[in-house]
Amino acid sequence: MSDPLWDEFDALVAAKQRFVLSTHVNPDGDGLGSEVALALALKARGKDVVVFNDGPPPHNFAFLAALFPLEAFSEARAEEVFAAAEVLVVLDMQNKERLGRVAKYADRPGLVTAILDHHVGDAAFGQVNVVAPEKAATGELVYDWLKRDRASLTPEMAKALYTALVTDTGSFRHSNTDPDVHAMAAHLLELGVESASVQAEINRHRHMGRLRFVGHLLQALKTSDDGTIAWFEVTPDLFTRYDVDGSDTEGLVDFPRTVPGVEAVMMLTDLGSGRVKVSLRSSGRVDVHGVATSLGGGGHRFAAGITLEGTLAEARAKMLAALGAAVAALDPALRAYAAARPAASRSR
Ligand code: 5GP
Ligand code: MN
Repeated sequence: MSDPLWDEFDALVAAKQRFVLSTHVNPDGDGLGSEVALALALKARGKDVVVFNDGPPPHNFAFLAALFPLEAFSEARAEEVFAAAEVLVVLDMQNKERLGRVAKYADRPGLVTAILDHHVGDAAFGQVNVVAPEKAATGELVYDWLKRDRASLTPEMAKALYTALVTDTGSFRHSNTDPDVHAMAAHLLELGVESASVQAEINRHRHMGRLRFVGHLLQALKTSDDGTIAWFEVTPDLFTRYDVDGSDTEGLVDFPRTVPGVEAVMMLTDLGSGRVKVSLRSSGRVDVHGVATSLGGGGHRFAAGITLEGTLAEARAKMLAALGAAVAALDPALRAYAAARPAASRSR
């Protein structure tokens, strides 16, 4: 069936044989789940497929590698893979540098790049760009492509797509959870996905050190004087002390955003190399995508990110200024705090 959104991608799939799939650095459940589902679908169509990322999957998404091999970058393997590749399909991102070490291979002459993504932006660098910011997850976009031939969806693809959906909707708690998301989830469950076991895989607290690390961060949670901004600070010594890594902070930045009065949350992770990773979340009013893009990052309206050069203290100061300005620009009557107070106590 012809569909203008998919015509070019369909034509590419029909015309080519050898595909490489890749996603952003620090891959998440949406990027990896989308890769696995698409890889399985292309393989079922007789294509040669390699999934090749900057790094390995975080341990809680390792179960996806049992469905399709998830290769991590090495120079030698990159040469081999891209010497043969005809098409690079980039999932869940659109700024080339977010491919990490895979980025330079995207420019190979003769290689066609296709992008499937749901981030806000106009930076998609592919020759074929399917960018749909209204989709809750890139996995939803892959599902849309696959479900045009419903018979082609296997339980393995369903599990990978469910992982993508659960990851990017925060287990159906975020504001991107719409009727399409639940309809897709229902269909995937019909195909045999066991929701509880997939969610247990994704969220399992691998070891006691991780729980204590989370406890430490929650104890140390900081807030601005007016309580509108909450933030976590993660330093390399904490990773060592609790025997955890960056993937163990996953999801934590979402915790404070339902606290009345909090407009925006950030997680500042000192990567230990003069760079600080910043994760931003909004309680539903502040446009954190706008804040992130103004400083060179990106993402979605209520969940965005950026990597800053400099020290943790510099990142903190820069981000508090930018978020503070965004909060100050809100209509006070619409702030979370005002909304959370009983009507009788509001001034009229
Ligand atoms: P997270 O905070 O979960 O890492 O990311 C939240 C959102 O912001 C995701 O959609 C992610 O793709 C985006 N994001 C995170 N870090 C960066 C970054 O350094 N650059 C860009 N362009 N987007 C980012
Ligand atoms: Mn995504």
